[in-house]
Amino acid sequence: MIAAVAEKYNLYTKITGGQRIDMFGARLEQLPEIWKELVDAGFESGQAYGKSLRTVKSCVGSTWCRFGVQDSVAMAIQLELRYRGLRSPHKLKMGVSGCARECAEARGKDVGVIATADGWNLYVGGNGGATPAHAQLLAKDLDDETLIKYIDRYFMYYIRTADRLQRTARWQEELDGGIKHVEDVVVKDTLGIAADLEAAMAKHVDTYIDEWADTLKDPERLRRFRSFVNAPDQKDDSITFVPDERGQMRPATAEEKAAAAQQPVLIGASIPLRSRDENEV
Ligand code: SF4
Repeated sequence: MIAAVAEKYNLYTKITGGQRIDMFGARLEQLPEIWKELVDAGFESGQAYGKSLRTVKSCVGSTWCRFGVQDSVAMAIQLELRYRGLRSPHKLKMGVSGCARECAEARGKDVGVIATADGWNLYVGGNGGATPAHAQLLAKDLDDETLIKYIDRYFMYYIRTADRLQRTARWQEELDGGIKHVEDVVVKDTLGIAADLEAAMAKHVDTYIDEWADTLKDPERLRRFRSFVNAPDQKDDSITFVPDERGQMRPATAEEKAAAAQQPVLIGASIPLRSRDENEV
């Protein structure tokens, strides 16, 4: 289905580091139509650029790997279904590895889960970006239920106390007591808020909706998907592509646009950009 949509709308495709398939190059007004085709085929919004859960990377796990001690794929699916659509101060990434060899690079994620012979080790506060951080061990040899309970508490505590655009690694560094404080709150419940944090996460899980499907049902929100307010059916001709990047299309460079229009290139012309967080990629 992804191939069919990519071919129909001439989108550039690529496998991402998080094991998903990117499709680049859709114009604004094409998005509802593309979402409709994907939703009708059973796909749902992946929150690919929201401040929310992005991806749960996993290795192949015990099903196919002789080193695997737990089914990391099943756990990754369970975690993705639970935390999909979770809005947060910054993007959230997760990883699940089926043994200590760590092929899913879970310790580079906000929440990393690594299988042990007795259950799962839970690591928190890892990220890549401009200032990478390894996730720190929060709890060892957890059963599935306790693992999920601790992740619920961790995410909700982070969501409620971090600054906007502050990723988990920086939040943990700035917390008084660091990982020890996180352990006190999440594992030992010294603040007595664990039940409240779990209830907040349960509410998220119970009220999750697919934002693509929801938008398609709402004519007011669909009106946002047009390039020109006064000419809703017109496409933006300033967005142009060339078909020569490994056999797929890519955005035209300034030189290519100028050559196509037989105009001189504007040297030094620039469009001011809003500053972005250093980790936002
Ligand atoms: S992390 Fe372990 S179980 Fe997973 S693929 Fe690597 S070696 Fe196999």
